Amino acid sequence: MTLCAVPKPPTTDAAASMRRGACPSLAAPMLTGDGLLVRLRPLDSSLTLAQFCAIAEAANRFGNGILEITARGNLQVRGLSASTVPGLAEAIGAAEIAVPDGVAIETPPLAGFAPEEIADPRPLAAALREEIAARRAVLTLAPKLTIIVDGCGRFHLGDTVADLRLQAFRCGEDIRWTLCLAGTAATAKPVSSLRTEAVVPVVIRILEALSAIGPAARGRDLDIEAMRALCLPDGEDIGVAPAPAPMVSAVGVHHLGSGSTVLGLGLAYAQIDAASLAAFLRQAGELGAREIRLSPGHGFFLLGLEGEAAAIVQRLALSHGLRIAADDPRNHIATCAGSTGCASAWMDTKAMARLWVETVPDLLDGSLTLHLSGCLKGCARPKASALTLVGAPSGYALVVNGAAKDGANAYTDENGMKSALERLAGLLRQNKDAGESARSCLTRLGAARVSAAFEQG
Ligand code: SF4
Repeated sequence: MTLCAVPKPPTTDAAASMRRGACPSLAAPMLTGDGLLVRLRPLDSSLTLAQFCAIAEAANRFGNGILEITARGNLQVRGLSASTVPGLAEAIGAAEIAVPDGVAIETPPLAGFAPEEIADPRPLAAALREEIAARRAVLTLAPKLTIIVDGCGRFHLGDTVADLRLQAFRCGEDIRWTLCLAGTAATAKPVSSLRTEAVVPVVIRILEALSAIGPAARGRDLDIEAMRALCLPDGEDIGVAPAPAPMVSAVGVHHLGSGSTVLGLGLAYAQIDAASLAAFLRQAGELGAREIRLSPGHGFFLLGLEGEAAAIVQRLALSHGLRIAADDPRNHIATCAGSTGCASAWMDTKAMARLWVETVPDLLDGSLTLHLSGCLKGCARPKASALTLVGAPSGYALVVNGAAKDGANAYTDENGMKSALERLAGLLRQNKDAGESARSCLTRLGAARVSAAFEQG
């Protein structure tokens, strides 16, 4: 782990030649439609209020003023140039923000004090970072390789995909960690259950196996039986961690017991104006907020608010355009950068999201995710969604129960978009039974009727 050093300014050629799919760090920003992009994951997703404020101010000063939090809870500063990246790095260094480099090792946002947490995963994550850093010269690992260390409390990372995942569970009075490969808590393949002291040596052996396969190898490329053999004699045949509790919305006021409160907030469509964020953070600080934990789902938790202060700050957040409640329809729309931030986009995804919220509010009841994708790549949501709208050169393609690349069920052009949405809204209004969810109604109607409503002008 290192504090941010000031990197050499990237040359335009170097930046432009950077592969998409690699990680756009301070030392290697990624060229996008609105300039260079830098992605940051602060240590343990934790920042003081002053540090978060410093990043927002730097995004405003050195970037184009747009700050993003990704689906995994990483920060992104947009609209940088080769000459402004060093200024951003200096600001981050001056604020003493620790940004680990190397393999991404992720812990849940409230690690250390999450209700129902079985073990604080941060010491194990720190030990892993240290051992991996010590082997930097001999381990060649894929740039996007990710390890999740999950103490399995509230706001766990069960829905987040990782190459290797460690999930805590109780074994009598002791703690064990189930090691799984490639996937979410529901889909990853269990390899072994380990005592805490066995985790680091076993993970290092697995990373050596990945390194031996090649620099692009991911968890899915490992042979599960070979990895089980690698775990011996440390592994124990005592079953695996039970499935984590169902995910609850992070957005809202959460009482953690012993009188403490955290406020979960979300960025609208993953972005916020950095100046507005800085102003909000200053107000929240005056009311007692002290710490930030970045969270998956494009949001963050505010810590330190007591009693009435959380409700006051929540109202302030709303006035700054943040998502503050579990029933906010914006919680259920996944958007990529779109034409305001990506050169490949055929759609202004943020403007389109506002149109859906305004025109088809009944659809966004939380039973489904609407995916708005600037192009067929589908960066914001590679998996299938109940409805996906994809930007195309001549208009918009609707995919029902599929991903952006899966082939359109219906099309409309720019002029027809608003009326297509009004027809979808009418279809739902006329057919949704009392108490029925939007997803269930769409499923009952079927792709053909949904497509016909969208397309018939
Ligand atoms: S889905 Fe396409 S338009 Fe959207 S960010 Fe990815 S490449 Fe750009």
